[in-house]
Amino acid sequence: MSNASLDSSSTADAQDALAVYGWDEGWAAEFASYAEQGLVPGRVVRVDRGQCDVVTPGGTVRADTEFVVPRDPMKVVCTGDWVAVDPEGSHPLYVRTLLPRRTAFVRSTSSKRSEGQVLATNIDHVVICVSLAAELDLGRIERFLALAMSCSSGEALLHESALSWESGAQPVVVLTKADLVPDAVTLSHLVQDVETSAPGVPVLPVSAASGDGLDVLAAVVCGGTSVLLGQSGAGKSTLANALLGEDVMEVQATRDVDGKGRHTTTTRNLLVLPGGGVLIDTPGLRGVGLWDAGTGVGQVFAEIEELAAGCRFHDCAHVAEPGCAVLAAVDSGALSQRRLDSYRKLLRENQRIVAKTDARVRAEIRRDWKRKGAEGRAAMEVKRGRWM
Ligand code: GDP
Ligand code: ZN
Repeated sequence: MSNASLDSSSTADAQDALAVYGWDEGWAAEFASYAEQGLVPGRVVRVDRGQCDVVTPGGTVRADTEFVVPRDPMKVVCTGDWVAVDPEGSHPLYVRTLLPRRTAFVRSTSSKRSEGQVLATNIDHVVICVSLAAELDLGRIERFLALAMSCSSGEALLHESALSWESGAQPVVVLTKADLVPDAVTLSHLVQDVETSAPGVPVLPVSAASGDGLDVLAAVVCGGTSVLLGQSGAGKSTLANALLGEDVMEVQATRDVDGKGRHTTTTRNLLVLPGGGVLIDTPGLRGVGLWDAGTGVGQVFAEIEELAAGCRFHDCAHVAEPGCAVLAAVDSGALSQRRLDSYRKLLRENQRIVAKTDARVRAEIRRDWKRKGAEGRAAMEVKRGRWM
């Protein structure tokens, strides 16, 4: 693996070899100054023990992450990152820099942990898998959507109000195991129910068993990098295998012949899909829980936030205030009480988390600016509107 040739490759070569991994003109532009320094571009396909595997135009290389800003959990090399690798010197090679991330999936809190943990980066689609084998839990889908919305750019994390579907990764709800739904009418009702809970979000019924809907999903994810989210048992591994066209992912039912437990054939956490696009599946993402939903609540309930603009009081809590446009919408039937309750519940649960995240993000940005100021690049970064 470490014997891949890394002779200074031209940008055109890099374009060809890395295109299937998502390399585009934007990345080429970001990389230009590093190319001048003789560095080689690549995408991180796996991270473990302070080292990572990087796909480069010359093949996959093992690289040490030690040269990238240490002690900053947000700048730890992560699966999905585009990096500049130093082709000189002994193996493992060094990752010299991270290209500015377009999006980052950051676990903001998990009980005692106060720092963010980057789980995957440069994600275009967050595929939320919901099993049709059990009764639909719309509240749970809304929570996963909020979680998907927290996968955003550093900039959007700072200005929460600036978050939009466009600024971060695009969420998609996939209703898995559609073959278990007895008839097409029932299925279309289920899809409609989910659509009302996910305004503006594509909802796709899919069956890995029959293959139905797989082509539609493949078309959605072919344009970039995707992650699969969802409860254990939702069918993520099966879906990943169906998209990949081979059993690369571990499926829960699969056991070692010697009974030692699950076997894993995955050596990479970032895989190229035969129909185009890239899938990231890391143990960290697998373990993502709903408590990580973070800052996305407002976007999931955009229509409630819109209604709230019509409330008499700008700090209306929509409980019993006079002139409350949200309660009026509930009264008229335009908004369901269930959805308002779900919104309130999610807001409450996330208040503490959001406060914590904001403090952390602000601290990071301050650190970042100090560093950039020292490097004399602040002005350039402002112009580009980048925070990383
Ligand atoms: P994960 O925990 O989200 O990765 O879920 P798995 O992929 O391990 O799937 C959980 C279970 O659901 C397994 O027993 C699968 O065989 C089953 N399953 C997955 N996809 C389908 C499907 O399209 N139809 C049916 N009937 N079962 C499925
Ligand atoms: Zn109100």
